[in-house]
This record gives sequence, C-alpha cells and structure tokens, in this order.
Amino acid sequence: MPLLAFSASGVRFPSWSMTNAEWDALKAEYRELRLTASCCSNAVVPVVSSRGWRFYRHAPGIVCDHRESPEHIVAKTLAARAAENLGLDVTTEACGPDGRWRADVLIRHPARGWSVALEIQMSRCPLDEIERRQAAYAAEAVRGAWLVGFRLPDYEPNRDLPLFRLVSLRDGILDPWVDRGDGEPTSISDFVTSLLTRRVVLREPPSHTLSLSVVGSPSTCWRCFQHQILLVSFVNAPAGVLAPKGWLLAKDLAKVPKIHTAYRQVVPMLLRTVPDLTVLRPPRRKEAQPDLQAYCPTCDAPQSLHRLSQDLLDPLRQRCWTLQEGREWSLRERVRPRWDWPDGPVMDWP
Ligand SMILES: [Zn+2]
Ligand SMILES: [Zn+2]
Repeated sequence: MPLLAFSASGVRFPSWSMTNAEWDALKAEYRELRLTASCCSNAVVPVVSSRGWRFYRHAPGIVCDHRESPEHIVAKTLAARAAENLGLDVTTEACGPDGRWRADVLIRHPARGWSVALEIQMSRCPLDEIERRQAAYAAEAVRGAWLVGFRLPDYEPNRDLPLFRLVSLRDGILDPWVDRGDGEPTSISDFVTSLLTRRVVLREPPSHTLSLSVVGSPSTCWRCFQHQILLVSFVNAPAGVLAPKGWLLAKDLAKVPKIHTAYRQVVPMLLRTVPDLTVLRPPRRKEAQPDLQAYCPTCDAPQSLHRLSQDLLDPLRQRCWTLQEGREWSLRERVRPRWDWPDGPVMDWP
C-alpha cells in the first residue's frame, strides 16, 4: 500500500511525517483534493490501521499490484521517517525511468546527489531475482539495499549487494528489527540511520585466507620417527569436481594439472619456509595408481595419504601456507564475510 499520495495540484502528502492535525484535515478533504497514489496514480483514500499505522488504500474497484502486508507498511514507514530525520529527500513507491524499477523507499541526498533505494522484501523470492533488481538500480547509479524477511542461505555478504535480515519479534507484533547475527536486535530506525550515515561496514576475511594454500597436519614419519608436517590438502583451489568448495586432497593433485604445476614451482620456497613439510611426488612404482604420495622431508620414506586419521583432518591442528609467498595462516582466520554496524563513525558506505 502506498505511503505517499499527491493532490490534483501536485501537493505531496507523506503519511510517515504528517502531523495528526494534517492527517485529520486530509481525511476530511481528500475527495476535493482528488488524491492519487504514488504507485499507480489511481485514486486513494487515507486510512489508519487498527494499530495506528497510516497508509493509503486504493479506491474500490482499482486494480494495482502494489499490495503489501501490514509489516511491510510499518517497515517502510519507519525507514522513510528515519531517512527524513537525517534531512534527506524521501519518496516511497518510487518509479525508475520507464518503470525499470520501483523502490519501496528512495532516498536522495539533496546536495551530494547520491541515491539509495531501500527495498523491504517480506515475501519469499529467489536470490537471482534480487540480484536482477539490484542490477537495475545499479544501471541508474542508485545504490540498492535490502531488508529481507526470510533466510537466503546462498547469499554471501558483498559490497555489490547489501542485504540484511529483517525479523519479526513475535507473531502479530508489528515491530520488525534488523538482525546483525549477534542476537542483539537493531530497530529499523537505528539501522537505517546507521546505513545512511556510513556506519554499516562489511567485515571481510583477510585476503591471504582466500589465496590458494597448502594445508598441513603435524605427524611423525613411520620410518625415521622424525616430526613432519604432512601435506594433506590444498584450500582455495578453483572449485571443481575434485575440489568441492575449493578443497583438493593432496593425493588428487596430479589430476588437476594447473594446481600441480603451480605447486611444483613453489616446492623449493615452501621447503625453505617449512623445512619439515612433506613433498608430493608420483609413487616410485610407476604401475601404481595416478595418486600422488607424500615423502618424508628427512628420510624420503613414502607416507600414506589414504584413509587419513581424524587427527590429521582436525582443522584446529592444521596450518596453511599460501603458494604465493609461503605466508602461514590458520583455518580459524577463514571467517565468512558479514555486515556489521559498530558504534562510532566509519567511512565505508554508501
Ligand atoms: Zn497503486
Ligand atoms: Zn622419515
């Protein structure tokens, strides 16, 4: 339902910021004003929900696909009000050129000229549909941000698509809040204020934890009993059949020639950096399977890479080294990117 209406002479009536007196006056004279909706320019009637939220209802018999849940109206009202309180220009149900997009709440900076479209998506829709609509905003240099009322497991937080989870407190309570993932609810007003004052930041994992690396586990050579780091796998490999989610088992290295070549080129560097790291080579007996074998850095005895023990696969015991420069890192550093809005100013967005 629209929150914004216009009189025949072009006067603007934003339901989220009008005083009670202004709203009452509008209810008395909306017919004479020939009030029309921002969404479809059809006739509308100012109404108030049972819980006191104002909006415009299309006049009987009018067909408009702009139908929204009460929660949607509340979220839109709170977002529009928060943006307007920052001195920004706000339009709801705003249409892009030639109807290429329609934003729930479109916010423009009156002096700097940037635009932000805030979309409140309560009904379930697939991620690629959101990405398509985001691209339509981007094509007009409008920064889109999404508040979605459902889980999107495939969404990975990224700068091109700022997307945040909107949660209803309880059934029937019209007080949706934004979830930061730490259990602390943020009201829509506070969130929108943070967003528009550049206090929402993307926390990303350090770049070396995304770089192709060898993964090693501490073990002991069966023949010389010396300590070694058994190279068990590669991480951050280009995803493929042999490398699901970027994990490639060391024994399968020869089956992915590109990574095999990259590894062979850096073996001397790796051994200088990690002298007790095992070396991967084809088995000495040529008739054996194409799987590679690990060799002890001290006595060169072959070490099995089949049926590795739980101990060797424990991510807490494993260490990684990048192929690029042999930088050591721990799998614990490999955090998922997430949105955060800390206290205090941070210049990051939009
Ligand atoms: Zn309409
Ligand atoms: Zn040995």
